[in-house]
Amino acid sequence: MRRLLNDVEKVLISEQDIQARIVELGREITAAYTDQDRLLLICVLKGAFMFLADLVRQIEVRHAVDFIEISSYGSGTVSSGVVRILLDLEQDITGRHVLIVEDIVDTGRTLDYITRNLQTRGPASLRVCTLLNKPSRREIDVPLDFVGFEVPDEFVAGYGLDFAEAYRNLPFIGVLKPELYKPQGQDEPDSCR
Ligand code: 5GP
Repeated sequence: MRRLLNDVEKVLISEQDIQARIVELGREITAAYTDQDRLLLICVLKGAFMFLADLVRQIEVRHAVDFIEISSYGSGTVSSGVVRILLDLEQDITGRHVLIVEDIVDTGRTLDYITRNLQTRGPASLRVCTLLNKPSRREIDVPLDFVGFEVPDEFVAGYGLDFAEAYRNLPFIGVLKPELYKPQGQDEPDSCR
């Protein structure tokens, strides 16, 4: 871990703050779904896996979980807007109360694609819980029902979010040292799950 920590420029959201906010989110979600059964949490892989694992332990209503994986897209700061499903749900969501669990909403393109896709499958309700929200980069307005933290327009890593598939195991959300990106000839890394 010490080697990974050397690559961190700053901690944006500490482990303690993440865990405290997840307790609050768990209460909000429990209250919102108290009288409903058939709740299904859909974790958007890979970035939201750690958030889901901590969040479900703070939710006190009966629920199931499922997973969906969406392709990365774009290069540098430019998004191609092309999104596709790499791994689809196992469960039928018809008539279910669905809560999408996301790591971060940036341009909103991924979430817009997921919500439009899931809406065609006839859920009883469809809501969104995201750990992080980066509103300054929004291109498509997507409604967010539960939000952990707002973050500035910086590429963040840790707590499930990666850079080049690494750093997901950091227990906090941080910003990496800029020199890590430079060898790839980019100012900013690709959006990558
Ligand atoms: P979108 O631009 O479609 O809202 O976000 C697409 C995906 O890009 C997110 O789900 C996330 O996986 C990734 N992404 C966006 N911003 C960041 C960031 O700051 N750090 C990391 N690691 N991934 C990001």
